[in-house]
Amino acid sequence: MCGIFGIFDHKDAANLTYLGLHALQHRGQESAGISCTDGETMRTHREMGLVSDIFNAQVLSGLPGRSAIGHVRYSTSGSSNIDNAQPLMVEYARGHLAMAHNGNLTNAMIVKNELQNYGSIFQSSSDTEVIIHLIALSHEGSTVERLISSMKRVEGSYSIATLTNSELIALRDPLGFRPLSLGKLKNSYVVSSETCAFDLIGAKYIREIDPGEVLLINNDGLTSIKPFKEAPLRHCIFEFIYFARPDSYMFGKTVYSVRKALGRQLARETAVKADMVIPIPDSGISAALGYSQETGVPFELGLIRNHYVGRTFIEPRESIRHFGVKLKLNALRDIVKGKRIVVIDDSIVRATTGRKIIKMLRQYGAKEVHFRVSSPPTTHPCFYGIDTPSRSQLIASSHTVEEINKYLGSDSLQYLTVESMQKALGRGEYTYCDACFSGSYPSRFPWGMELEQMELFAKGEK
Ligand code: AMP
Repeated sequence: MCGIFGIFDHKDAANLTYLGLHALQHRGQESAGISCTDGETMRTHREMGLVSDIFNAQVLSGLPGRSAIGHVRYSTSGSSNIDNAQPLMVEYARGHLAMAHNGNLTNAMIVKNELQNYGSIFQSSSDTEVIIHLIALSHEGSTVERLISSMKRVEGSYSIATLTNSELIALRDPLGFRPLSLGKLKNSYVVSSETCAFDLIGAKYIREIDPGEVLLINNDGLTSIKPFKEAPLRHCIFEFIYFARPDSYMFGKTVYSVRKALGRQLARETAVKADMVIPIPDSGISAALGYSQETGVPFELGLIRNHYVGRTFIEPRESIRHFGVKLKLNALRDIVKGKRIVVIDDSIVRATTGRKIIKMLRQYGAKEVHFRVSSPPTTHPCFYGIDTPSRSQLIASSHTVEEINKYLGSDSLQYLTVESMQKALGRGEYTYCDACFSGSYPSRFPWGMELEQMELFAKGEK
């Protein structure tokens, strides 16, 4: 769960990267950073926290230069501390190099062990650092060749922006797990995890960077290289379901339209007599609209969200604590009282949010509460960059829908099935990774090995 942004040859490189990261803030709120080069020197500023708290005019003026990359992080591999914040920047035999990575390298542990046996000293527990060591040790000539040979050693998911003093290199893994798009702001190329960042800075969307494509951007323009063996596409379906911003365009579709189509499909398969449809904000809004439009059941905002509850929010004194979900969400009494309600959310992880919401709706007088989920039961963890808890914490991995319904306290509970989700995505070839729902991982690794993998990168936690 990370967002990356890059811009080549623009007088406001650091400022535009700051804006790009702001648009990508939903992809990671733990840390943020920008690396910027003036052609001779590269500087990086990284901190824990939100983009708007980290960067101000003074910090940005300390990042001079015409090319920059940026990163927002939410850790999936490696612990949450400043050493793992990105971009990772190094100075090696060929000069400065900075890297911003979205994804998870599934064989990073193995490669890291090999490198350490060879003498490499790691500074962080981030899987991204493995790539930097491989680049530094490569015998290839140019940076792009070194990067390509390094990427041939690693497996898993990666959308990457790399900056040197003279070039910006953007690439995507051959299966295309994570999004990455190319845009243009006047004469300057920009790359971003999501197109919503282009809209903010006024850049024109050009196209997606192809899965397995390496884009070299330098003073000669744009060079596209396809060095990897073609593989069946496996775009992350959870980007559509929950993770990406609704106003972004990725994998050939607008996220908002996909969410609405999922809501419509849910309505076709699981409709129930009701007075209103209410979303769990913000994640359930688009699907609830689709559900409402398909059934004709009115859409209402029965739950109101407080947007200012951050990760660092501290609840006061023990005696007045345990506000639970009410800190973030409150129900509208007058709207829900005496009503038969369909509550829509995009997914259930541990089911703690839904349980508290249903309790609150009942306390406020709702007559019936039917829970509908615009994705299938989340039964398996993700090893490709989405932060899901271990299998044991995913309620659907060990409970039936009926058991979850009982736990939630809802009158009924229904999900989409994997097949109906596939149907909602439209005709044509199915090009998605839905391992979190189906357990069918696009790469093979023995069970247990992944867990070890995750733990290795959590070592050194501070
Ligand atoms: P839970 O209470 O654990 O069932 O969480 C369900 C809520 O978490 C839903 O509203 C989802 O939109 C949201 N959610 C789903 N996946 C994730 C994730 N990987 N990280 C953070 N929130 C998530």
